Amino acid sequence: MKSPLNLIEPLKGLAFPEVCQVCGDSWAGATDGFACRKCRSNIFKSTPPWCEQCGLPFNGAAGNATICKNCHEADWQFERARSMMSARGLVREVIHRYKYNRHEFFEPLMVQWLFGCGSLFSEKSQCVVPVPLHPLKERDRGFNQAERLAKGVAEHLNLPVKSECLMRFKYTETQTNLSRKERMANMQNAFGGSERMTFSRVLLVDDVMTTGATASACAAALRRAGAQTVDVLTLARGIPV
Ligand SMILES: [Zn+2]
Ligand SMILES: [Zn+2]
Repeated sequence: MKSPLNLIEPLKGLAFPEVCQVCGDSWAGATDGFACRKCRSNIFKSTPPWCEQCGLPFNGAAGNATICKNCHEADWQFERARSMMSARGLVREVIHRYKYNRHEFFEPLMVQWLFGCGSLFSEKSQCVVPVPLHPLKERDRGFNQAERLAKGVAEHLNLPVKSECLMRFKYTETQTNLSRKERMANMQNAFGGSERMTFSRVLLVDDVMTTGATASACAAALRRAGAQTVDVLTLARGIPV
C-alpha cells in the first residue's frame, strides 16, 4: 500500500506558500495537506455503532437496531455504504472549497482521509467506479471530484477504475433541498453505462453521501450493466434533511 506521503510528494515542488490554507495563521506545508495541526483536528470520524446498510451513525441509544429507519423504508440498490467522516468542520469546508473554488491543493489531504477505507472494503471490491457528473457540469467545474478521489482509492487498494461503466445522462440541479423521495424520483434513469461491467463486486466512490438516492441510482445502473454487488464509499456523510 502506498503511504500518504507518496501522494503528497508531487506537490512539494510547487511554489506554494507554506501557510495553513484554512486559518491562514499557522505553518502548514504540502505534507500536511496545507492544513495546520489545529485545523486538521477539526474532523469528525465515523465510528460505530452505525446502520449496517447505509453507515449512518446511531446517535446514542441504538438498542438492538442494526438498520436505520431510512434504510427500512428505502429499497437501496447498494449493499452497504460507509463514509469516513461526518460532513462537518474541516471536511465540509475542504470539500466545498475543492469543488467550487477549485482549491485543488487540498486533494492529497482528501485522499489521505480516505486511506482508512482499506479496512472497510479492500478484501471484497474488485474495481472502483466514481459517481459521474453530467458532462455539462463537469465542463463547468473543470473536473469531477469523485473521479479524482476514486483514482486515489483505486491506487491505494490496487484496483482498476472503471469509469466508462457508469455515465450520467440527466442534468440535475443541486438536490440539497429535496427530500429522499424527491431525490429518488429525480434520479430515475439518470445513469447508465457505455460498457458492460465485467466485475461482480464494485466499489462506488463519491465525495459526499446524504440521503443515498444518488448512490442507489448509480448502483442500480451498475447492476443493470452486469455488477452483482455494489458497495459505496464516500469521504463524508451529510445528514439528510
Ligand atoms: Zn490552520
Ligand atoms: Zn441506514
